Amino acid sequence: MKATVPVNSNQVQKQDNKQSETLNLLSSTQSIIKEAIRNLGYNDEMYELLKEPLRIIKVRIPVRMDDNSIKIFTGYRSQHNDAVGPTKGGVRFHPEVNEEEVKALSMWMSLKCGIFDLPYGGGKGGIICDPRNMSFHELERLSRGYVRAISQIVGPTKDIPAPDVFTNPQIMAWMMDEYSHIQEFDSPGFITGKPIVLGGSQGRETATARGVTICIEEAAKRKGIQLKEARVIIQGFGNAGSYLAKFMQDAGAKVVGISDAYGALYDPEGLDIDYLLDRRDSFGTVTSLFTNVITNQELLEKECEILVPAAISNQITRENADRIQAEIVVEAANGPTTLEATTILTERNVLLVPDVLASSGGVTVSYFEWVQNNQGYYWTEEEVSQKLRYKIVESFERVFLTAQKYQIDMRLAAYMVGIRRMAEASRFRGWV
Ligand code: GLU
Repeated sequence: MKATVPVNSNQVQKQDNKQSETLNLLSSTQSIIKEAIRNLGYNDEMYELLKEPLRIIKVRIPVRMDDNSIKIFTGYRSQHNDAVGPTKGGVRFHPEVNEEEVKALSMWMSLKCGIFDLPYGGGKGGIICDPRNMSFHELERLSRGYVRAISQIVGPTKDIPAPDVFTNPQIMAWMMDEYSHIQEFDSPGFITGKPIVLGGSQGRETATARGVTICIEEAAKRKGIQLKEARVIIQGFGNAGSYLAKFMQDAGAKVVGISDAYGALYDPEGLDIDYLLDRRDSFGTVTSLFTNVITNQELLEKECEILVPAAISNQITRENADRIQAEIVVEAANGPTTLEATTILTERNVLLVPDVLASSGGVTVSYFEWVQNNQGYYWTEEEVSQKLRYKIVESFERVFLTAQKYQIDMRLAAYMVGIRRMAEASRFRGWV
């Protein structure tokens, strides 16, 4: 089954006989930032400031493994820009974590916080490891070791971590506990995405999928598509993809395709999502139970109205963008569509809702969690979901109108909206 595992190709410049396609997440982010800054009327100094994170640290973390050996893990924490407020963003545990990716991801967090008007700049962390092959106790020691290694530069008013790929509320709990020990006071606001009993927020676990759902509703309205009649394909069955499948089914849509890292399932009559949710493991693997599995790449090109890449980067490229049949593509993953593919889809009149807009439900509810921790007063799930809906609908509209006004794609429009406040704050501080 492992033959179809997609590789994370963010470091690769794919070659063909004409010109290579930009698959490097950092350089493609920089090129859109440059264009957005130019459209906003700022000078090159602003680009020089924003094109890289202000700070990135690399740490080496010794961990005692269960067999009594010591293994040294490498981790990073990147802080893009803290002109607006403390930096904010998740920590991913993945074998393909690397410095360039962490940098790009922290820059996207700045954009997400800007688009959603959250009082933060962007941050991101990562550890090169494979949690699928580690025990519970090894993961605990690694999580605590990472916090000890970065404790000087993080904190509730400096940089606030959160979950990301292959990290979860349990890992947030260990990290928060370690930080509280180091500081010698209880610090729930140091990290978000915690279990509810430790100061987590109602609705945080499902927040990314809720945000994507609201973006799908908004995009469908603009395209005149009824969700009840729509066929949806979701690539990825992790936190975002699996909850999203459920929400789409609840909204009356037909989920005709889903996938995990090993393959995809497609049924034009609609898949039984409850059955699949019941059988997925904690890393989102479910297709290994089936024999009629197709590849992730085949799934993307199947017939549907709405396509949601919710897995890894560089999935829609100029190789396959012409064959995508969806009318709406909503990016729940970070960086699933290349710049070239964005142009092709936009020219084909496909409405593409970019990652920095569509996948921001998580950080928005993380902000709500941090506010609740700071005030020591907790909201109901209803309050959280109302506030989230308000933020997403408002931000979607702002990006959509910017795209119309400048006659540009939604990605560039989102970058323009996301950069504006950070640029202004940097200027007032006298940084540029
Ligand atoms: N890791 C999530 C993201 O990429 C959430 C970050 C957060 O909650 O701070 O948006």
